[in-house]
Amino acid sequence: MTMSEWRAQRNRQALARLTRALPEIFPGPVLTHALTRPFTPPMPRLAVDSYWRAHPIRADRLARSMAARSGAPNGWTWRLDCDRADGLASSFRAPPAPYREAKFSRGPGFCRVCGQPVYRLGWHVDLWGRGANRNAGWHTACVVAWRLWNAPSDHGAMLRRLQGRRCVETGRRLWKSAEVDHRVPLFRVWQEHRDTDWPALLAFWGFPNLQMINREVHAAKCADEASYRGRRRVEAQHL
Ligand SMILES: [Zn+2]
Repeated sequence: MTMSEWRAQRNRQALARLTRALPEIFPGPVLTHALTRPFTPPMPRLAVDSYWRAHPIRADRLARSMAARSGAPNGWTWRLDCDRADGLASSFRAPPAPYREAKFSRGPGFCRVCGQPVYRLGWHVDLWGRGANRNAGWHTACVVAWRLWNAPSDHGAMLRRLQGRRCVETGRRLWKSAEVDHRVPLFRVWQEHRDTDWPALLAFWGFPNLQMINREVHAAKCADEASYRGRRRVEAQHL
C-alpha cells in the first residue's frame, strides 16, 4: 500500500467515526477545518482542538475578549509568590491569571483562564442550550492562548510569515536563527505596567506584543535591557 492509499484509508475510517460521533449542532468552521486536514480528526473534541491550534491569533484574541467580559475579581491584584507558598505565579514571566488562583476560582464549568462558562466540547458559546459543562475547566481556545502566552517561541514560524520574513527592528531579512521577542519586555511590564487593569495586561503576552527579530539584534536589545535594569536598581537604592 502506498503512503497516499494508506492515508486515504485512514481518513475514510476517521471520517466515519467523526460522522457517527458528531452532535447534531456543531460549529461549521470547525467541521470545514477538520475536513481539509491532511489527517481527519476522528472525534469532535479533536476537531475542536485542531481548529484552535491552527488559529492561535484568533484564540489569543478570543481568550482576552472573554476575560474582558469577566473582568478582574474584586480584591484581586497581580502579585508574585516569591516563596511559592500560596499557589501564585513566582515569576513576572507567567501571565497573570486570577481565576487560576484557588481564592478566586469560579469552580467547575468555568474557565481558569478567562473566568467564563465552558460549554460542550470546550466551546465558548452554548450552541446546545445545555448550560455549562461542569466537567470542564478550560475553553479549548483558552488552552491554545495559554500555551502561546507561556511559550511564544513555539509560534516563530507564524510570526515570521506575518512579518513577511523581515526583522521588525532592522527591516532586514530574518535569519533562520531569528528569535521571538516581547516588544515591551516582561520585566518592564512588571515594573512599569503592573497596575494596568486585568485583562488588558494580557495583551503584553499575546500577539500584540510579540515579534521575531534577528539573534544579534535580540542580544543587543537584551544588553540594553540589562543596563536599563541596572540603572533602575541604582535609582531605587538612592530613593
Ligand atoms: Zn476561557
